[in-house]
Amino acid sequence: DKRPKRLRTVQDFITGNAKPRNETITERKKRHKRIYKQSPVLEVKGLEKTFRQGKQPHHVLHEINFSIYSGETLGLVGNSGSGKSTLGSCLLKLIQPDRGEIYYSGTKIDTLKGKALKQYRKDVQLIFQDPFSSLNPKQKVEKILTEPMLVHNIGANKAERIDRAAQLLKQVGLEAAHMNAYPHVFSGGQRQRIGIARALAVDPKLVVCDESVSALDRSVQAQILNLLNALKETYGFTYLFIAHDLEVVRYMSDRILHLQNGNIITLDEADAVYQQIRDHQAQKTS
Ligand code: ADP
Ligand code: MG
Repeated sequence: DKRPKRLRTVQDFITGNAKPRNETITERKKRHKRIYKQSPVLEVKGLEKTFRQGKQPHHVLHEINFSIYSGETLGLVGNSGSGKSTLGSCLLKLIQPDRGEIYYSGTKIDTLKGKALKQYRKDVQLIFQDPFSSLNPKQKVEKILTEPMLVHNIGANKAERIDRAAQLLKQVGLEAAHMNAYPHVFSGGQRQRIGIARALAVDPKLVVCDESVSALDRSVQAQILNLLNALKETYGFTYLFIAHDLEVVRYMSDRILHLQNGNIITLDEADAVYQQIRDHQAQKTS
């Protein structure tokens, strides 16, 4: 029921570090007041998506309406197959919705072209679920981190980009020397850190985390969640945090959007949605 500013990791228990302080309800309310009085960074209006496999249409997203506000973590929960990743992919402009609009800072994203489209592709980044398949096994970490910078004209030359990559590695808790290694030498948690550094490399604003800790064991999950929150604090990111693990989403989120069979069931303050889902589950089992 508490929201510690940082989750305690195995290392904290071993070294006997003090318990991190909880964010109080008053602090949380004050923060929310500040976040939700702004105009949204992203607005989704009447989004519909149908996949067609053969002749059978499969309606995956129905009339999706919501907004994301700068500096919030919006949790997205729902059973497997409820349309979470499809919704994330629409926001990332990886797939095209059939109907509806997405506005980014007030501009429709399907009208973006040239420079503005490139800016959107830079501003909105994805951290994948599977750290084992989301990194190119044939690329050294240096290349993995500097390539997106090159695409988005970050850094004046190769030396500057390598320098930035070294800083990023340190920021995500790795070492500059890791630059010369290939992904296979790293553990799952370390690979996820590389994936995070890659997203950071282009200086994003909105980060979509799609099941970003689901493949990791609990103690490594805590480390990565702490890292995501620390980076958010430093850079002022906005997160869309997609996961099926309700406890994790509750801890991370300011608000939670609950998706069921492609419909929004609720969108509300995280604790309220958490309680609603738990009550509903308790009813079903009693
Ligand atoms: P979630 O991320 O919530 O588990 P998804 O968004 O991945 O759900 O999938 C929602 C539904 O859409 C699933 O039934 C899935 O099989 C279907 N689906 C997802 N992507 C495609 C695709 N490219 N082609 C056909 N069906 C798809
Ligand atoms: Mg998914």
